[in-house]
Amino acid sequence: MALERLLKGFADFRLGYYREHLDLFDKLATEGQSPRILFIGCSDARVDPGILTQTKPGDIFTVRNVAALVPPAQPDGRHHGTSAAIEFAVRGLSVEHIVVLGHALCGGIAALVDGDKNDAYAHYDYLATWMRVARDVRDVVVDGMAGRPRDEVARAVEQASVLCSVKNLMTFPWLAEKVAAGTLVLHAWWFNLTEGQLYAFDPAIARFAPVSGVSLEGAVTARTQLSDLSAERFIAAAGRKPDF
Ligand SMILES: [Zn+2]
Repeated sequence: MALERLLKGFADFRLGYYREHLDLFDKLATEGQSPRILFIGCSDARVDPGILTQTKPGDIFTVRNVAALVPPAQPDGRHHGTSAAIEFAVRGLSVEHIVVLGHALCGGIAALVDGDKNDAYAHYDYLATWMRVARDVRDVVVDGMAGRPRDEVARAVEQASVLCSVKNLMTFPWLAEKVAAGTLVLHAWWFNLTEGQLYAFDPAIARFAPVSGVSLEGAVTARTQLSDLSAERFIAAAGRKPDF
């Protein structure tokens, strides 16, 4: 049944969207892709960057993984799928923006928040190692929000892990060079699917706020400091006004 729905969906796409965008597909086929934006999102089935932003084929280059994490640069000859996609987007396609998109109710982050006590990863081969990318940030947030409701803590870890991923982007030297040169801007976004609202991190206030109300200048530009993204600063801001 699930697969039949996919085939029906493709038939509809072919007769509808594809026909309506024949010129676009023809252009993309003959000229290749030249997206200006790299999206790094979660594999979660509920959070599709293309649907959320209503973009067209060719508009965004996308990599999705568990919890939308970016590991630090580690050129050790092993298989780094996320880093390879980032490298191609930055060095091959010369994207001008990178958006890391976290989201509410993220199962990967929930396992990170609850994992130690539930042994959530015990029967998996790869998840625990992967989620280690955000473990230090989790520790800072959990310590800093001791006594606060678990859902608030989970949400803060979701958002702080996006900041962690943005900071880790800057460990790739060819990426940091472009940010310093002003040709690449990094953005930290978080989508709340229960209210249908998109939030962006504003370094000036160290908080995520609805995109309609914040500067979209970016979380990291040639003018910003990486310390602006620290989990400690984020938690200090969250502690002052715990309504994220
Ligand atoms: Zn997720």
